[in-house]
Amino acid sequence: MKIAILSRNKKLYSTRRLVEACEQRGHEPMVIDVLRSYMNVASSNPEVHFKGDTLPNFDAIIPRIGASVTFYGTAVLRQFEMMGAYPLNESVAISRSRDKLRSLQLLSRRGIGMPNTGFAHDPDDIPDLIKMAGGAPLVIKLLEGTQGIGVVLAETKKAAESVIEAFMGLKANIMVQEYIKEAGGSDIRCFVVGDKVVAAIKRQAQPGEFRSNLHRGGSASLVKISPQERATAVKAANIMGLNVAGVDLLRSERGPLVMEVNSSPGLEGIETATGKDVAGMIIGFIEKNAKPHRTRTRGKG
Ligand code: ADP
Ligand code: MG
Repeated sequence: MKIAILSRNKKLYSTRRLVEACEQRGHEPMVIDVLRSYMNVASSNPEVHFKGDTLPNFDAIIPRIGASVTFYGTAVLRQFEMMGAYPLNESVAISRSRDKLRSLQLLSRRGIGMPNTGFAHDPDDIPDLIKMAGGAPLVIKLLEGTQGIGVVLAETKKAAESVIEAFMGLKANIMVQEYIKEAGGSDIRCFVVGDKVVAAIKRQAQPGEFRSNLHRGGSASLVKISPQERATAVKAANIMGLNVAGVDLLRSERGPLVMEVNSSPGLEGIETATGKDVAGMIIGFIEKNAKPHRTRTRGKG
């Protein structure tokens, strides 16, 4: 199969591993920087151009679209979808997952457990908003933050009020969330491919830090997850419409709580900690599922 990997950098671990897995399985991979792709969106014959050339028709597309290029990246992916290529994750599902609030609303509607979370616009509503999230200590998050940047722990009501006020003053969209203390600075990353959790790791924050992101110095280790955690992760990915997802869970006294569902989960931490060939499993999933025009997005937008 001809497989395009939408990635800005060929040298990234995840990109390299996907290229390798394609080659090992006899496919033809091509890495495409979405920001160097362009297209005539009004043409009845959809194509994508790349650095002066017309790209061939691909059988499948593996989107690895960074948070900062979601808007342009999903537009390019949509164009490939219109050309009939099979997207590993669909453009609509990626856009949906990039908005934390929208994601939590979708998940809660279907009964997925999550930390109590509030959202408000007006500073006058801050006291009630804090109550809604269960009072201090609580976590304040930028809606479109990533890699732990824009996630703040406010230990007291006073601190929470000032941080929320400051964010609101900057016109930033935030949500206010119950702090799950018993998680002890750790979370569980479940790597979902299709209807299975193919690998799971526990990420532990550095001492003195509550955010377990590997980008914030967290460390990863192999973990055995419970059937309930497994089922929750698969259901969450499914609700988001993602075939491949990194579902992050907090272990709380009331069971697994979903914190976020990531549509371009990194491979380095999970493959290194588990020794599993996750890239190979992703390509295996494409081999089983890729068919021309097999996308729900086609013609919908
Ligand atoms: P990002 O998208 O920036 O990774 P997250 O929502 O995943 O933002 O939060 C970053 C980290 O902060 C999580 O991995 C987790 O360790 C910690 N964290 C986030 N929300 C909570 C919470 N409600 N309770 C306890 N820890 C949390
Ligand atoms: Mg996270």
